[in-house]
Parts: sequence; structure tokens; C-alpha cells
Amino acid sequence: MSTVPREAGTNPRGLGFVVDLANLSTAQPDFDSDRFRSLLADHGAPQRILDAADDDLRQIRDATRAVVDVLRSEDVDEAAGRLNGLLELYPARPRLVKFPGRAWSMHLDTPGHFDRAEWLCATAAFALGLWLGERGSAAWGTCAAADCERFFVDAGRRTPQRFCSTRCATRVRVAHHRRRNVADPDA
Ligand SMILES: [Zn+2]
Repeated sequence: MSTVPREAGTNPRGLGFVVDLANLSTAQPDFDSDRFRSLLADHGAPQRILDAADDDLRQIRDATRAVVDVLRSEDVDEAAGRLNGLLELYPARPRLVKFPGRAWSMHLDTPGHFDRAEWLCATAAFALGLWLGERGSAAWGTCAAADCERFFVDAGRRTPQRFCSTRCATRVRVAHHRRRNVADPDA
């Protein structure tokens, strides 16, 4: 690939991809291959994955749903069990890679006989597993805004994250404020 993947220098690798993929799956469960390919390209997926034919789209969608199930697990033991199940079925093959101008970072190998759904599950399970181990909890969730179903990875240091974005957090805060003012105009 000629371009440096967007996340090559960030840690932990792959979480942005996992969350975007899960959000695509919940918004458009029958996403087409163009949509999937553009998401892969955005996140710097290996060229061989991008070049793959479209005939395994159904497996890709199924694999994505397995990843969504992990993100819906808020209990750390349940999440760890699900991730171990995925790693059992789709073992990750980590290796250190050095992109130009970047520090060494851990990436997943794409074996010659790779299968995109396999690669996707391995990548997601590896990224989420490292994250769970580092944080000691299922440090992700679904947005608390009533009309938003988007997933997020909680990278906060202190209070647990509740919203997918500052946009949702602000929207909810403003609505809450308005309701309070209506209930008690002097507040
Ligand atoms: Zn949201």
C-alpha cells in the first residue's frame, strides 16, 4: 500500500475499524461490498483484503454480527468468553510491522489462504482482547442518547464514557437542561 494507514501510529490498533464496522452493521445490516470496501480502505486494510472478490459478503456480514455481539457484552467475563470463542475459531497471527516514519506496531498477518471473514474476526477479537486486557473491563458501550445506537470504545481515563461522540453528549445535555427549565422556570 502506498499510503500509511490512518491508525498506524495510534494505539490500540484496529479499534476504530471495529467500532466503525459495528456501526455500519447496525445502521445497514445488509451493507453492500462497496460500502464495506470503502470502510476497509479508510482504515488501511491490506491490499489483498481490498482486492478480494465480493462473493463472501454474506460471511462478512455474519462475522460482523459476531463482533457486534462482543460490543454488546458489557460484562467483562461474558465479553472475554466471547472473544476467546472468536480467537479459537479465528486465531490471530500478530507480527510487528514498521510503516515509514512510524514506530513499530503490532498488526495481524494475512495468510496466503486467507478468508476475509476469518481475517475480520481475528482482527476484531485481537484488538478488543488487547483492549479488554489493558483496561481490565469491557471498555466499550452503546451510546446513551435515546435515538442513537452507535457503539464506542471507551478511551477515557476517569469517568466511564456514555455517549458515542461529543455531539450526542451535548445534544442530551441541552435537552435535559431545557426539560429542567420547563419543569422549574426559576432553576
Ligand atoms: Zn450517539
